[in-house]
Parts: sequence; structure tokens; C-alpha cells
Amino acid sequence: MDKNIVIIGAGVSGLIAALQLEAYGYKPTIYEADTRVGGRVQSDTVNGYVLDRGFQVLLSAYPMAQKYLDYEKLSLKSFVSGSYIFKDGKRLCIGDPLRDVSLLGTTLFSSVGSFSDKIKVFKLKRMLHKKSIDAIFEAESITTLQYLQRFGFSNAIINDFFKPFFTGIFLETELSTSSRMFEFIFKMFGEGNAVIPQKGIQEIPNQLLNQLKNSEIKYKHKVKSVRDNTIILEDNTEVTLDYCIVATEASNIISNLSSTTLTWKSTQTLYFEVDASMVFPKYMIGLLAGNENSLINSISFPYSEANANRLLSVSVVKQHNLDETALLAQIKQELNTHFNITTLKHLKTYHIKNALPAIENVCYSVFPSETQLTNSIYLAGDTLLNGSLNAAMLSGELAAKAIHQKISGYME
Ligand SMILES: Cc1cc2nc3c(=O)[nH]c(=O)nc-3n(C[C@H](O)[C@H](O)[C@H](O)COP(=O)(O)OP(=O)(O)OC[C@H]3O[C@@H](n4cnc5c(N)ncnc54)[C@H](O)[C@@H]3O)c2cc1C
Repeated sequence: MDKNIVIIGAGVSGLIAALQLEAYGYKPTIYEADTRVGGRVQSDTVNGYVLDRGFQVLLSAYPMAQKYLDYEKLSLKSFVSGSYIFKDGKRLCIGDPLRDVSLLGTTLFSSVGSFSDKIKVFKLKRMLHKKSIDAIFEAESITTLQYLQRFGFSNAIINDFFKPFFTGIFLETELSTSSRMFEFIFKMFGEGNAVIPQKGIQEIPNQLLNQLKNSEIKYKHKVKSVRDNTIILEDNTEVTLDYCIVATEASNIISNLSSTTLTWKSTQTLYFEVDASMVFPKYMIGLLAGNENSLINSISFPYSEANANRLLSVSVVKQHNLDETALLAQIKQELNTHFNITTLKHLKTYHIKNALPAIENVCYSVFPSETQLTNSIYLAGDTLLNGSLNAAMLSGELAAKAIHQKISGYME
């Protein structure tokens, strides 16, 4: 129990690793380059509004989130299961009438896809409910687009719903992401809700941090390199250790991994203040369909205190070369043309270069021992499995388990 265990990174994976090590009785030390926890899960307050650094949601059905988070204390705001689709100046609605019966008419009779497409959506949901997560990740991997076509969906519903919806999740516009990830995410949507804590996504790492009792966090301590039994900080201080979990992209700090640099998917989120009359009647995401030349992928109105004005979040996934001013002008114009929204004030734009790792061979889990790189170095982070909060949590747990197994010789 007195082993010196260091974790690099206080993102979600590093925090879970620390929690799990504490559960075994260890007292890890976390070295974090930033001034706070969360990594890619952070929020800022601007003009009284909570702005998440990039639009993201927690899927309440994630097994790892159910294990580690106290949902009630997070005061989660659930999106209604469905989307508004903005196409050719019209707002259409597709939803899950089994969850919200008021969506029955609008969904069945909306012109988003054919009637047969809508039946297939329910078939897919039922099929994936019965399919285990293990079976999903053992299945053949094709692209999501190929998968949807093989399932028999029409081009209309693929282009008007699946493409914009999953572009916002996979952060790529071609639906080239593995069908395994599609099945997993679709299953999670079917079995729970897309939620955001009322006070912003940062509440998730904050809650994990508050559960830590015996860990020390050293903020503003960037690690320059990692070797067996030693880490070197930016100021060249050397720290000796027994075990180290690298809970961030390892190729940046472990020299013999430097050739395995990951590619990342990027996104931009712009926040505006708008008049309350602009807000959708239901708490849903708005997707822009059928506009190849537009930059906006989706919009939503994150929770903000009810008053005359509200918060609008706009997500951009498509690559472009516009500078800050031109981007803002184009987004405002697209909001006006396609969504009939005029904004009162631009609050902030986030450019997130490294949002999701582009992993070809996504997997759900690995054996704990597979997180071990050398005698003393273990790896965690969503980069190990797949780009999701669930994967980040699971990877932290696996690395902690592996170290405990090594020390105690005990296999769970
Ligand atoms: C815009 C956006 C949208 C997303 N949408 C979703 C979504 O809807 N649903 C979902 O499930 N997931 C989503 N994700 C993915 C999810 O946020 C990540 O999978 C998860 O946060 C990854 O956690 P992590 O601990 O693996 O890595 P990170 O969060 O990247 O944490 C790494 C930590 O290590 C620190 N660090 C890095 N280098 C060093 C160093 N040299 N020394 C010390 N510290 C260092 C960093 O500061 C950071 O705190 C989204 C991510 C983004 C950015």
C-alpha cells in the first residue's frame, strides 16, 4: 500500500484510476499540466452562462458512468429523445414516441425518411437492446454508412437524420466511423438519455474529484518525459516512482512511442446569447440537413436560468479555412437563413483541435494486463479503447486494476 504510484493527467481517465487505486488502499499522486481537473471535460462561466468547452453529452446508459457517478447529485438535464431537422426552410421533427408520446404524430408523419425507415429505426433499437456490448464489439467492423445502407435505410433518412446526428457525435462528416461504435452509441441512446449536468459538463470531473480522499493532485505540473521508474517534469525535476499510469496521449511523453502519434478529430463550438423566444419548444438538438455548403452541424439551447435571454450553442464539424471574423459572420448568417435565429451577442468560440482520437480498431475493453507498457508504466485514456467518456472511465479502472494485480499477485 505504500507503493509510490503516479498518474499523469487529471482527465476523467486519470481521476477514475485514482479512485480505483484508492479503493485498493493506495495513495496515488496525480501530475496535471492544467490548473484544474477535467481535461477535455471542462466548462467556463461567461456573462453568467455556463459554456462547455465543446458541445458534449453524457449518455446515462454508459455502464461506467452508472458505476462511478451519482446522477442525482449532478442535477442532469435530459434531452428529449429525438431531433429537430432544419431543411429547406422547414423545421421537421423525428423522435421516439415510445418515450414521449407527443412525438408520435410528428415523427410518423414527418417527411424525414419514409414510413418504412421509421419502422426500421425501431427494429434497430430493439435489435441492439438484445445485443450485448461484447457482441457489438466482436462483430464485423464496417463503416457506419455501409452499416446503415445494409440495414436498408433510405438515402433520405441517412442524409437528413443519421448523417447530421452522427457527424456531431463522431466528429467526422462521412460516417466512416466503425459500425461497432455506431451500434454501441445507438444502443446507449436507446437505453438511456443524453444528459448534461445543469451546471455544465465540468460537474462530472468535479464530482469524481470530490470522491478522492487519499490522492494528491499537483496542478500546473507538466510532465516532459516518462521512463521506467522516473518521470521528468518541465522544469527538469526528476520524480522516482514504483508505478506510473499515463492517462493522456502517451506518444507525447514516452520517447519510444513517438512514432505512433495519433490523429485527432476536431470541432468548434460557438456560444451566443439569444432572445428567449428563439428557444425550441422541446429540449432537443437541432440538425441542419441537406446543406452541403453550410458549416453548422447542429444547434442546441443548453440549460440556462430562465430569463429574457438564453444561451445558444452552435457546433461546427466541417473543416474550413475561415478566420475568426469570417467564421462568426458565416455562422450568424446560417443561423438566420436556416434556423430563423438572430443572435443578440457572441459570447465565445472554442476551437478544439484534439477532441476525439481517430481510432480505427475501436474496442470496448481490454484485459487489465494489456494496459502495461513496461515494468512500471501503464496506459489509460480514451485513446486506448474508443473516444467516449465510458472508455475514458473504463481505461482508468483497467490500468489501476493491472497495477494492483502486479503488486498483490491477485487476479479479480
Ligand atoms: C468537444 C468534445 C465533444 C465530446 N463529446 C463527447 C460525447 O458527447 N460523449 C462522450 O462520451 N464523449 C465525448 N467526448 C470525449 C470525452 O470527452 C473524452 O473521451 C474524455 O474526456 C477523455 O478523457 P481522458 O482522461 O482519456 O483524456 P483527457 O480528458 O484528454 O485528459 C488528459 C489530461 O492529461 C493532462 N495532460 C496532458 N499532457 C500532460 C502532461 N504532459 N503532463 C501532465 N498532464 C498532462 C491534460 O491536461 C488533461 O487534463 C467529447 C470530447 C470533446 C473534446
